[in-house]
Amino acid sequence: MEKKIPGLHHVTAIASDPQRNLDFYVELLGLRFVKRTVNFDDPGTYHFYFGDRRGTPGTILTFFPWPGVRRGIRGTGQIEATAFSISPDSVGFWLERLKRQHVAAERIAARFGEEVIRFVDPDGLLLELVASNSLPSVEQWPDSPIPPEHALRGFHSVSAALEGYDKTARLLTDTFGYRLIEESENRFRFASGDDSAPGRIVDLLCLPDSGVGRVAAGSVHHIAFRARDEQEQLQWREQLVDLGYNVTPVIDRIYFHSIYFREPGGVLFEIATEPPGFTSDETIEDLGTDLRLPPWLESARSQIEKILPAIYVPHKQ
Ligand code: ZN
Repeated sequence: MEKKIPGLHHVTAIASDPQRNLDFYVELLGLRFVKRTVNFDDPGTYHFYFGDRRGTPGTILTFFPWPGVRRGIRGTGQIEATAFSISPDSVGFWLERLKRQHVAAERIAARFGEEVIRFVDPDGLLLELVASNSLPSVEQWPDSPIPPEHALRGFHSVSAALEGYDKTARLLTDTFGYRLIEESENRFRFASGDDSAPGRIVDLLCLPDSGVGRVAAGSVHHIAFRARDEQEQLQWREQLVDLGYNVTPVIDRIYFHSIYFREPGGVLFEIATEPPGFTSDETIEDLGTDLRLPPWLESARSQIEKILPAIYVPHKQ
């Protein structure tokens, strides 16, 4: 089959306090709050989307903030770290900024020739900023608190912690069309062919001696790959079913359509369509301003608004 996965669409993680989550990603990291909606499967709770100005696929980090939820346990069968690209000239800026904001960050050993800053968000989610020589093009948010030259440029990569990596590697190469481009000790780096777009790298970490992780606050819930349109998504579904995967039907997430399945290493994978995107129900200027609900929840809006905790959006555009 000709089609290939061009890269990541979004990464979805679990948070606890919604306001603390918003403050960290908008105020501190300078991502734009591109959609304020609810978890369609649990409409009494928020679903936040952060990204570049438009919420371009490959820049989107989303959260289910569940107040009071317990913390997850890091281990295999989950995404260990989510990495954003920054310019190699921004390493000093970010180390200084994180220090000033009392976020304990460390500069770890360069990985495949690129410098890496590592820290955790307020819920313990492991994040990395990777100084990348090939910066992808994203739409910068002009009102960001971060100067444009230092802004995050979408996803660099995700690192999946796996007990064994062969079957996942085969899914990435034989089915998704990724290539093994680097390896060092237990880290295997796979990349899609589209090197102009963000989110083209997946690292598989082979950790046979680690325990199995538990997904909760501070963990990635799932990662989504991009499909160019609905037709391509249906082809992916058919192909994955033929390979023996247990794939959900297509689910309408309003801003994209989704299918989900568990990859052989235990990580929940999604394939999401690029269209229609976040401007399907509000203008690009207004993204994130108001609570947006899917049509089937509009009749319950007043109850939903009463249940959701009040939030204040920092750096409102
Ligand atoms: Zn998703």
